[in-house]
Amino acid sequence: MPVGTLATVKGVSPNQLRGTGAEMILANTYHLLLQPGERVVEDAGGLHDFMGWDKPILTDSGGFQVFSLSKLNRINDEGVSFRNPRDGSTIQLTPERAIEIQMALGSDIAMAFDQCPPYPATELEVEEACNRTHAWLQRCVDAHKKKQQALFGIIQGGCFPHLREKSARIVSDFNLPGIAIGGVSVGEPLDQMHNIVRQVSPLLPEHLPKYLMGIGTFREMAIAVANGIDLFDCVIPTRLGRHGTALVRNERWNLRNASFRTDHTSLDQTCVCETCLNHSKAYLHHLIRSEELLGLTLVSIHNISNLMRFSKAMTQAIRDGCFSEDFAPWEKDSPARHTW
Ligand SMILES: [Zn+2]
Repeated sequence: MPVGTLATVKGVSPNQLRGTGAEMILANTYHLLLQPGERVVEDAGGLHDFMGWDKPILTDSGGFQVFSLSKLNRINDEGVSFRNPRDGSTIQLTPERAIEIQMALGSDIAMAFDQCPPYPATELEVEEACNRTHAWLQRCVDAHKKKQQALFGIIQGGCFPHLREKSARIVSDFNLPGIAIGGVSVGEPLDQMHNIVRQVSPLLPEHLPKYLMGIGTFREMAIAVANGIDLFDCVIPTRLGRHGTALVRNERWNLRNASFRTDHTSLDQTCVCETCLNHSKAYLHHLIRSEELLGLTLVSIHNISNLMRFSKAMTQAIRDGCFSEDFAPWEKDSPARHTW
């Protein structure tokens, strides 16, 4: 899922986004609550009509942003109070409120409101966050009344295997239509994240879609898919795009680099995105050096297309029975030969 924080994948129109092969996007409850507010989106007929995107949308619960971005947040069993960075007013987010907002936004998948502890955190802190997350999940389930919207639960537990195991069991017992591994991509070393995925994924009901939150680089996705993960979100393709960095295969190219100034070939001859079909590296280099908005848009389109292509190649490899051979273990110098 490309990330469309404020009901827009930055710099890319919905039509351009469709062209990348993206099938579902993520929008952020916290940011949409602050601006324009969920009532404006609801009045427009929901997020799909508001932003002109007819494919699936997942909204997060706002919890991750409240815990990571907000100053002066106060956490208790009821919920979290934080200062609105726009006007200084105090906002309270509770499980009920997070669900109410997501129902008003009208996403296809709503996420439960959880407490995501920072990294590092003590075992006691993580255990408390887990207990609260589980109590809040029950309140989210009770508050959720929108039949056509799926509610996913979130597993916490930090880097403590016994807490992860307990959380996986409790969240699975809710029999929700999907399940997410949260509390990753919060600053922990990559091998710890892989250990969490390896440990938790086999504990989850096999038939459910499994979502690894905030992860979206090639190697990490391939390892997670090898362990049964289905869904990812990541801001990397558009964040890099806005800085003029292109994802080409498994490498990152800074298009400001003078070596691209007279290179009239496309970014990636094997890519069929709008950018690669129509434009050269020299043109992209020129646009980015000139700080033209189109440059950032074109690089973002290519980057999203690149990740979508990688995802679809993994899907195809699974269907063709060659995933292990092509993608796992993912090695830098052995890109998937069969499907990629
Ligand atoms: Zn391309």
